[in-house]
Amino acid sequence: MLLFVSTWILSIFFVFCNGFATIDEFAKVLDVFKDTKFHDNQLLTALCITQYEFLKRHKSLKGKRPDFYDECPYDEWLKSTNGSSNAIFDVDELESIKDEFESAVAAPDLRSMKPTEHYDLESYITETNIKLLKDRKNLLNQIKADGASFSDIREKLGEMLHTVQDFYSHTNWVELGNDKINPMVGMGSNLGVQLNGEKEVACTPCDKKFTAEEQKEVDDAYGGLLTSIPLVIVGSKDNVYSCRGNMVTKHLTSGYYESEKDFRAMEEGKCAHGGLTDNYGGGGPTLQISP
Ligand SMILES: [Zn+2]
Repeated sequence: MLLFVSTWILSIFFVFCNGFATIDEFAKVLDVFKDTKFHDNQLLTALCITQYEFLKRHKSLKGKRPDFYDECPYDEWLKSTNGSSNAIFDVDELESIKDEFESAVAAPDLRSMKPTEHYDLESYITETNIKLLKDRKNLLNQIKADGASFSDIREKLGEMLHTVQDFYSHTNWVELGNDKINPMVGMGSNLGVQLNGEKEVACTPCDKKFTAEEQKEVDDAYGGLLTSIPLVIVGSKDNVYSCRGNMVTKHLTSGYYESEKDFRAMEEGKCAHGGLTDNYGGGGPTLQISP
């Protein structure tokens, strides 16, 4: 209990001081998010496996490849390479690289929202992909330049990876039945898939007809003092909708987000980003946050 309360206090402190970022801190205090993979979880598992592959190739690291979402076993790696002549690597350095990436991947959610950093707003999909393409080219040039700052490179790469992750969580790529990555994300000026047309209907409105199980999830989360405070800080219960089969388009679209209305407001027939933080409402079943 003490551990829970101290984690909770830390999380609340984090929310107040850093604004709302969709990171693993929420899963620690809110049971409903325990199976959600946030931006940081995804980045950290990719980084751990990449570091493992690098150390295996260059520093004779033995042992098993970490599974997705395993805690990265740095100390074990160090022990397994002890005694081998080229086995020297610095665990502290690996940890600090991890920390730099972790804060970079959360950063786009902590500043004022721009659709081109999050693959939001159907009408901004192409612009977002072109921005990612340009940023990738610039970053490659920066890496090749003399005296490149690795911290700076990690910051930019972490932020770009946030946008890549959002392609899969904010567009309907998955709902269209795709179970593989889209190799054109950030790689070409078009995404190799037909975009939903300006005049085409993408979504129908959601309703508030919850199943008994969904209603219980909402009531439990908002009923407890410890769980309701972070939820009230990040968003409103009024934004909790139940959406079933509301996506009608067979083409690629993305949700409109009320906090990005200055870029383009949502028009009838388009999809809302959804989740607790989106005053357009709709978009996700029950308490889903739409990371
Ligand atoms: Zn985002």
